Amino acid sequence: MLSWDKTPSLAPMRCCRAWVEINLTALAHNVRQLRQWLMPTTELMAVVKADAYGHGAVTIARHALKAGAHWCGVATVPEGIELRQAGIQAPILLMGAVHSLEEVRAIAQWQLQPTLVAPKQALVFSETLGRLDHPLPVHLKLDTGMSRLGHPWQQAVEFVQFVQQLPGLAIASVYSHLATADDPDTTVLQQQHHRFQTAIEALTQHQLRPPQLHLANSAATLGDTALHYDMVRVGLALYGLYPAPHLRSTISLHPVMQVKARITHIKEIAAGTGVSYGHQFVAPQPMRIAVVGIGYADGVPRALSNHMAVLVQGQQVRQVGAITMDQLMLDVTHLPGLQEGDIVTLLGHQGRHCITADDWANLSGTISWEILCGFKHRLPRVALEQPLTALATSRGS
Ligand SMILES: *Cc1c(COP(=O)(O)O)cnc(C)c1O
Repeated sequence: MLSWDKTPSLAPMRCCRAWVEINLTALAHNVRQLRQWLMPTTELMAVVKADAYGHGAVTIARHALKAGAHWCGVATVPEGIELRQAGIQAPILLMGAVHSLEEVRAIAQWQLQPTLVAPKQALVFSETLGRLDHPLPVHLKLDTGMSRLGHPWQQAVEFVQFVQQLPGLAIASVYSHLATADDPDTTVLQQQHHRFQTAIEALTQHQLRPPQLHLANSAATLGDTALHYDMVRVGLALYGLYPAPHLRSTISLHPVMQVKARITHIKEIAAGTGVSYGHQFVAPQPMRIAVVGIGYADGVPRALSNHMAVLVQGQQVRQVGAITMDQLMLDVTHLPGLQEGDIVTLLGHQGRHCITADDWANLSGTISWEILCGFKHRLPRVALEQPLTALATSRGS
């Protein structure tokens, strides 16, 4: 028997085997907490690349802007176009590097603001776009130690001078990205900060200081206000997770995402019966097994097999056997009242329990960022306004 009637009247939650809930109240709370943490003059960029870390870019961008974010940050041109097509008018920084002339033209057409990582790239933009009525705002990236995108920080003055004389482009900011901001050991962070600061001083001496400077990701935003400059680029913290345990004592964040699925089948198995592929789990005594309609093709890491727990009826229940592509199994021997159709919380809270992306990351040897982006599009995203009082905060969990 499927207990459809136990759930609110939203279609995915009424009839789907699995879905992702996006708590807009938590998102607005996180944005407000971040705004209070920043100086009033420091702008907040909502980093919504990778479909807002799996949360749904348009929904997140819209509500983050409404709650007080000023900018959106994306990684690719199509990600920026998606926001524009949804009617989002806030400035959008494209943080990835661009290669094709088609992309350069699309950037101008959709009013995205590109990151320029080298003088020759600036030249391509200028030559492709020609003289524009309104010059395209561009953001110059310096490499201060990440060794990813960016021009060497020692050549900041030459870089800015070169771009400045190109027609069609207007320098909107100079920025850099930190490699170790979530590490309690701040040695490398301080070196990058010092290099960025040195580059800015050289620019200032040549009267080339751009309208905006920015350096901080979530970890640097929470870790040190001296890194905020004119804007911070916040991803993970927006979604209610802390980049590192030592940063939990800063502001209160609530996880925005919950992942839920339905029990599709319940069965009794005899002692000695193997469960799932490879029989990695064998029942030591007679057991009740619940099959849940979510698997690794939905974003539950297969590495969690036999190690994870889920929440059912307010209790923690262990997962057993290999996680399969579309399904996983639970040991529900001690929950006789459980029924097919009942809802399981994989990530989120039930009663006094809370399972976070950090828990999964720790168990599977990865980072919470990867867990969040791992949820696939076959899981519908359901945006809800859920009260925060009912939420266990991820702090200290
Ligand atoms: C992804 C990204 C961010 C956001 O990082 P979080 O750690 O999620 O806050 C900031 N800046 C750049 C350049 C990025 O690529």
